[in-house]
Formats: sequence, C-alpha cells, structure tokens
Amino acid sequence: MAKVEKKTIKASEMNPKFKYEISKMHGGEKLMRCFQCGTCTSDCPIARFSDTYRPRQIIRMAQLGLKDRVLKSDTLWLCASCFTCTDRCPQDVEVASVIRVLRNLAAENGVVPQVFKEQCSSILESGYAYKIPELRLKKRESSGLPPLPKGNAESLCKTLNGVGFLKHVEKKGG
Ligand code: SF4
Ligand code: SF4
Repeated sequence: MAKVEKKTIKASEMNPKFKYEISKMHGGEKLMRCFQCGTCTSDCPIARFSDTYRPRQIIRMAQLGLKDRVLKSDTLWLCASCFTCTDRCPQDVEVASVIRVLRNLAAENGVVPQVFKEQCSSILESGYAYKIPELRLKKRESSGLPPLPKGNAESLCKTLNGVGFLKHVEKKGG
C-alpha cells in the first residue's frame, strides 16, 4: 500500500481568511463545525479505494486556510458527490458541498485537471463526455442496435457558457 505523503505545514501557508470565504458560500456555512472525528473518511466509498483521498483532511486544510495546497490538490477531484459524508457527519457539516465549493474556487483559479478539460472538449464537440470510437459504433450497427442519439452540443455549450464554466476551463494552470 502506497504511503500518504505528509508535508510539513508552514505558518506562512495559512490564510486565516479562507475559512470565512468558504463559510459565506452556499454549502460551506458549517465548515467550522467540524471537530475532526473522521466519520466522513471512514464512510467515504472513494477513500476506501484510495490511499490519498481523505475528506476529513480536505475539511481540515480548508479550516486551517491552506488555500493553495487544497485548491491545487488532485484528490479534490476524486469526490464522487455521493453525499454519504454529509448524511453521516455528526456535526452537520455539508462535506460534499464544501468540496464542491473548493472545486469551484479551484476552477476559478484555473486549476482543473486535464482529464476534465478533455471531457469538456468532448462534450462541446459531440455532446458526449467521451469520444465514442468508430469501431464501437459499427459494432452496434452490426448487432442490430439503433444508432446512438445525437448529443446536443450547441445547447450544452450555451449552458456552460451561461454559468461561466468555459472561461474557467480555458484558464491555464490545471
Ligand atoms: S464527519 Fe463531520 S465532524 Fe467528522 S471529520 Fe467529517 S466533517 Fe468533520
Ligand atoms: S461525497 Fe465525496 S467525500 Fe463524501 S462520501 Fe461521497 S465521495 Fe466521499
């Protein structure tokens, strides 16, 4: 089993205003209630299969104001948004929503993993998150299956533009 990398925290990394910034956002209001019991991590289906993904740790980094560290963390993007952590937290911390808030902040800062940028390009091109290989389409046809419905890329593009998503994805740094 791979070891979780432990980096020393420097006082200069801590931004004391960060927790207030998050607490003002929808879903982040109860961040400061977390008393680090670890229930979210122990019930998280992703943490079960990952050596590095720990929602409790993400919440603590946010509380401590480790803004750069948490926003640049790849693990932030592993959350499946299943809300198990939110349902189980004894302090009513909306863990999944805090993670969503952090992802939005990361995207605003241009930090979006390449894999999601590629998915986004594919959606904008075809309406599908993944490019479906020609071979698979032929296989469908030869198996007597109907053609796949056409994705509505134009409407998706309008929606993503409307919520300001595209300009964040286009930023460099992710
Ligand atoms: S379950 Fe709630 S209180 Fe416990 S560590 Fe997670 S967020 Fe904090
Ligand atoms: S919402 Fe994310 S952090 Fe919470 S239990 Fe599900 S995968 Fe884990």
